[in-house]
Amino acid sequence: MSNNTYIEQAEQVILHTYNRFQTVLDRGEGVRLYDVEGKEYLDFGAGIAVFALGYGHPGYNNALKAQIDKLIHTSNLYYNVPAIEAAGKLCEASGLSKVFFTNSGTEAIEGAIKAARKYAYLKDGRTDHEIIAMHHSFHGRSLGALSVTGNTHYQEPFKPLIGGVKFARFNDLESVKALITDKTCAIILETVQGEGGIYPAEPEFLKAIRSICDEKDILLILDEIQCGMGRTGRMFAYQSYGIEPDIMTCAKALGCGVPVGAFVLNKKTADASLVPGDHGTTYGGNPLACTAVSKVFDVFREEKIVEHVNEIAPYLEKKLDELVEKYDFFTERRGKGLMQGVVVTGRPVGEIVSRALEQGLIIISAGTDVLRFVPPLVIEAEDVDEMVRRLEMSL
Ligand SMILES: *Cc1c(COP(=O)(O)O)cnc(C)c1O
Repeated sequence: MSNNTYIEQAEQVILHTYNRFQTVLDRGEGVRLYDVEGKEYLDFGAGIAVFALGYGHPGYNNALKAQIDKLIHTSNLYYNVPAIEAAGKLCEASGLSKVFFTNSGTEAIEGAIKAARKYAYLKDGRTDHEIIAMHHSFHGRSLGALSVTGNTHYQEPFKPLIGGVKFARFNDLESVKALITDKTCAIILETVQGEGGIYPAEPEFLKAIRSICDEKDILLILDEIQCGMGRTGRMFAYQSYGIEPDIMTCAKALGCGVPVGAFVLNKKTADASLVPGDHGTTYGGNPLACTAVSKVFDVFREEKIVEHVNEIAPYLEKKLDELVEKYDFFTERRGKGLMQGVVVTGRPVGEIVSRALEQGLIIISAGTDVLRFVPPLVIEAEDVDEMVRRLEMSL
């Protein structure tokens, strides 16, 4: 059946909450995707920074197939081996202490907010704690996550949201300081802002926030859902800043396509926050999802994925810088590792994304004017060259 036939069917049964590109993706191989008509695409979107290992990775696929035959689900009323192993690997990789597995990034944010509020509640018994979040942030679409997402367009129709959230300017320390009160229980930010337009936190900013949090016993929540899992050239982006969060949220590439997220607490927070009865999930931490997580960490180690990011990212940066040099409407590149954005001025970014798709290149946008490059972490130099070729054809 053709793309169009499927798309007509889709629009009859799937709620129209996305203006989707007019292609029906069918299968993947390495860093390439194919639609139902057999058209090939070079993938520099990775399903929004998810599919880090490339499509059809044999070790990953076989681990999942074996687990399907063994046990898919248990609920959290019992222990299961994949969850124990996956949590151990996530603690080791993050330097943090305790993991709660969720089914998505949004849900990880919800849990992080609850853990922070509970920590503060146990300290002073108040029920009017405040959270400081950042403008242009993105933390998800459920009501709690939306409440800390600094984008009025996403929030407006769904008010009232959760109370006690204030917004500061990212990378502007004074704007954060001005909002701190004795009710502040947490500061939440993305180490590298993704949806907002690929803005890495400045080292002085993040370090100063860490110091303020230490001084006032405010919890620092770092959202590593998009920038974590090797994407910036460290397993987690905060590791290049020499600081650690009190709570970290993780999802997207954590399961490389199997829906799974996590919030991870340091010892201080884990010892004095959520206890039995406070939080739960039926699916979270199920053996299938956790087999994916566990295998992803194994493949990262065996195939030196993070090292590879550090080898290939400078080449991508160089090639993107050349494009910025060459085309007037490309005005700036920014980003870290394989999380890069190019600012487009005087031309709709959506049009470039659509034309690239026609040329067989998947890229996505971020914010209102940024072309986002978040390829699978296993791309090679020739994939970068091919991406540039197809992108230039679409300009
Ligand atoms: C994608 C994203 C989320 C939401 O994750 P979902 O899995 O879509 O719920 C939250 N925070 C950041 C930084 C993200 O990029």
